[in-house]
Amino acid sequence: MSNWSDTFKKNCQVTFNEEHWQKINYNTGCFEKRFANSKGNYRNVELEKQRAHILRNKSLMNLEKLLVDFETHFIENGGNVLWARDAEDAQDMIWELINKRDIEGVMRSNDVVLDEIGLKDFLIDKHVALYETSVPRFILQAAGQVPYHPVYQNMHLSKDEINGFFNAQYKLKLDSSPKQMVNFIRHQVKQNMEKAQVCITGANFLLSDTGGVVLSENEGDVIKACSMAKIHIVVVGINNIIPSLEDLGILLPLLSSHSTGHSMNVVNSVITGPSKNETCPEQMFVILLDNGRSELLQNEVIRQSLSCIHCGACISVCPIFKNIGGYSYETTYIGPIGTVMTPLMNGLDDYSQLATVCSLCGRCVEVCPVKIPITDLIIENRRLVAKERIGDAKFEALMRTMIGHCKSRKKMDCAQWLKRLEIKQLVNKNAFTKRKMPELAPKSFSQMSKGGDI
Ligand code: SF4
Repeated sequence: MSNWSDTFKKNCQVTFNEEHWQKINYNTGCFEKRFANSKGNYRNVELEKQRAHILRNKSLMNLEKLLVDFETHFIENGGNVLWARDAEDAQDMIWELINKRDIEGVMRSNDVVLDEIGLKDFLIDKHVALYETSVPRFILQAAGQVPYHPVYQNMHLSKDEINGFFNAQYKLKLDSSPKQMVNFIRHQVKQNMEKAQVCITGANFLLSDTGGVVLSENEGDVIKACSMAKIHIVVVGINNIIPSLEDLGILLPLLSSHSTGHSMNVVNSVITGPSKNETCPEQMFVILLDNGRSELLQNEVIRQSLSCIHCGACISVCPIFKNIGGYSYETTYIGPIGTVMTPLMNGLDDYSQLATVCSLCGRCVEVCPVKIPITDLIIENRRLVAKERIGDAKFEALMRTMIGHCKSRKKMDCAQWLKRLEIKQLVNKNAFTKRKMPELAPKSFSQMSKGGDI
């Protein structure tokens, strides 16, 4: 077992915390209601999802050409394009761009890809001040925490807890209302925007035909920060490319309805390069990040995970997430899609256990706006783990014993206590410390039938 597996198992104990369970289930329940309402905006949502599925998969098949076309157009528009092999490469590029300049701080947007490259810790190590553009991230920064969910980043925090963090950090009154806290955050963010000369963001999509960078948000702070900074750096996965502006007509409404339940995000921007009229940003750089995506592309089944648009819907409906929460994973990408991507991006050896973190109920497949067959991909991961014989040797030996028992009528009819003992050995030894083991039937079906009981 890897260190990650041990930590993960320990973290999963949170599932027995009633208060945590209620908070998460209340919040995910709210999302499900909004999401159900948003489907009313479509005449045929399944048709739209099918279109998005075809579009995203076609883009992946033509990735090389689309990326090169994007680069050509973006450079023509006055921007710069850099290609990063991995997170370290991306960090070095960012450092190269900001180190030479006398800057006071960096604004960053609320994008998971910036967590993927470890931007926050990297800038802290370099003693560069990092300012948040969004309200949820500002709260997390005050709390010293990382996002709990990619869309509802602080769904695990109550108002009282947030009051506590703001009181400790900014001396705000303990009984401040949400409105007062949001006003305070907006004021701080505005001041930070005036100080920071660099803005680092992700991008929802890249447009190959125009060299456009698409940002979709609800607060409008990201585009404001970009237009106030001298330098705008975009870090984006190579898989986020789509052919054309017209494709946004399909993808943006699906992204909004499946992430927040709104028919459309409030602020949607397409930036095609630096400013041409001596306003900000004076310079713009797009860092195209690979970081294991090429590995995923090589596997014909798993490659479909790269069509993800990071709406977070599969996470919000996942029964595993609703029990273990977002912090148990300790990985950048969590929930069903994280279960698929992380083992191949971060190493199958260390993250093989993730392949088992799924009940294969299929809720994620039902909700996914780009129709990724997530459960099939998780099964593929299990196949890869089995193929490489990575796993718990004791568990495998016990599975073989169980298979032997299931094939033998005599053993299937053995005493109930013996069956209980075997099950207890087969499952994790801690499994029944918090919950009662289900009772086994006193007699097998075969015994009942032979004894005339049925
Ligand atoms: S896998 Fe589908 S549902 Fe899950 S985050 Fe990606 S696009 Fe959304």
